[in-house]
Amino acid sequence: MTTARVAIVSRGAPLTVRDAAGEMPTDGPLVDRYGRVHDDLRLSVTDRCNLRCIYCMPNEGMTFLPRAQILSFEEIVRVAAVARDLGVRSVRLTGGEPLVRRGLRDLVERIAELGFDDVALTTNGILLAPIAKDLAAAGLRRVNVSCDSLRPERFEAIRRRGELEVVLSAMAAAEAAGLTPVKVNVVLLRGRNDDEILDFAAFARDTGRVVRFIEYMPLDAQGEWDRDQLVSGREVVERIEQVWPLVPVQQPGDPAPADRYRFADEIGEIGVISTVTEPFCGTCNRLRLTSDGAIRNCLFSDAEHSVREVLRSGGDDEDVAMLLRRAVWGKLPGHGINEPGFLRPRRSMSMIGG
Ligand code: SAM
Ligand code: SF4
Repeated sequence: MTTARVAIVSRGAPLTVRDAAGEMPTDGPLVDRYGRVHDDLRLSVTDRCNLRCIYCMPNEGMTFLPRAQILSFEEIVRVAAVARDLGVRSVRLTGGEPLVRRGLRDLVERIAELGFDDVALTTNGILLAPIAKDLAAAGLRRVNVSCDSLRPERFEAIRRRGELEVVLSAMAAAEAAGLTPVKVNVVLLRGRNDDEILDFAAFARDTGRVVRFIEYMPLDAQGEWDRDQLVSGREVVERIEQVWPLVPVQQPGDPAPADRYRFADEIGEIGVISTVTEPFCGTCNRLRLTSDGAIRNCLFSDAEHSVREVLRSGGDDEDVAMLLRRAVWGKLPGHGINEPGFLRPRRSMSMIGG
């Protein structure tokens, strides 16, 4: 076995190549060459959406996958079951907007029956309120609701469709259904909504919802991302601390992407997801399944392994398991956004599953 240091700027200890010769284990947990164990699976159930957020999709002209290419619920459940047998403990349903996929409640139920520790959903909240109770009864544990402004007009300017009031009601409905703690995802854009950092901090304190500020990533379908629009997680923390002191609540080596902070007076919590400025690749434990059945080991890598081809050509669970193992084994040490040769991935956020 060869061991070598790999220098990447990332949260967590420097990564060490465990087996540069490339001998992929055929049993045990899903592990990559750097010893990162993968126990978190993001399942994208659709690339379609009822909104057109400016940092994600163009207002017009977004093309969506033909339905025949989208995995059926049976296919998704099969992949999830194999992943569970390989040690995956938590699943998050996402998209696109997962709630535009018809019958999502049934999928939640079938995934929950597989016995994961956690089954969660990321949603824009537009369709959530009427079915929050049903989803909870089906086995959903938690939701993240995206909301980029607390001012109705600005909300509509950023998300282009939908209303703030509907999304706030969805958060309340989720709480009433026991889908707690509700986390609120906020993508900050310089000059657009970064003057609401303190409003969102006050919102977290007033409501008990965990507000998570996400750095704008080069994953918009229009290709308009530029670093000047990004508001760093560090800046968010500094601005909040000028008003309310914060205390970090992270444990070293925690795989969660958010750096979590409690308000020092114990009223509420916020998080910052500094994917671009302080990557957490060193502790990344995620694997993704796109809605058309590609396994991806990183948001920013174009390397894909088609589980749909395996399933639709009569592959068995062992074939699916080997594909998952290969996908994880091939993971690079870091996403490389800050390196000179970085190329944006071909698929955008909503086509991968955020
Ligand atoms: N439609 C759902 C929603 O908006 O919550 C789930 C899918 S969405 C792709 C998942 C998360 O990715 C959302 O919180 C969204 O705000 C975030 N997101 C989308 N595009 C992004 C980008 N270019 N940079 C950072 N976050 C982004
Ligand atoms: Fe739709 Fe979510 Fe993308 Fe907004 S961020 S356009 S809600 S997929």
